[in-house]
Amino acid sequence: MEYAYIYGDVRRLYLNVTNRCTNRCSFCVRYKTEGLGGSVLWGGMEPDLAMLQASVLARGDFEKFREIVWCGYGEPTYRLDLIGQAASWLRRCGAKIRLNTNGHACLIHGRDVLPELGKAVDAVSVSLNAPNARRYEELCRPDAGSIPNPGGKARPELLAWDAMLDFLWRAPVYFENVQASVVGFTLSTEEIESCRLLARSLGVKQFRVR
Ligand code: SF4
Repeated sequence: MEYAYIYGDVRRLYLNVTNRCTNRCSFCVRYKTEGLGGSVLWGGMEPDLAMLQASVLARGDFEKFREIVWCGYGEPTYRLDLIGQAASWLRRCGAKIRLNTNGHACLIHGRDVLPELGKAVDAVSVSLNAPNARRYEELCRPDAGSIPNPGGKARPELLAWDAMLDFLWRAPVYFENVQASVVGFTLSTEEIESCRLLARSLGVKQFRVR
């Protein structure tokens, strides 16, 4: 697993710090290839701060990056600890810090982690991915084995959908910039428009079809 990689824009650096995920999305690139941009992103141990710093510095002049993105082959907020620890060091390069997330951070950690994330990250892109819970379950296939479900009172798939929506509607309080995204080829034109309206109803105006 490589922890820092460039894919496309050479002034954007992606950080890959876990392969764990609460979803098993039918369209996830992880099921097609083990890496991107010539970097292997799958397998191996998760980094600590020193390992991440070494990997970032190996990518060349720190100051050249205008954006650093917590992303990768898994849900990055599993590494909330590392996102927080690395924030002040990453900010030294002057780049904006973005988080690409499935919105399950509070579900994963069993508490409200948005205030912590808001201190460590400037922008967030949340994978909305579906216009309703049924389609979310079909497309994102939440992993019951990875989703904390104390008491087993609710279906894990519904917990995942609700957690993502809750993250998305509260995000504008904590981040400068909030975007909802969908994967275009998995949805009909009508479904994409429903997703756009759903995001707007949650107070999120930025919407991206990937
Ligand atoms: S949430 Fe992201 S990393 Fe997880 S399975 Fe879906 S696309 Fe892949």
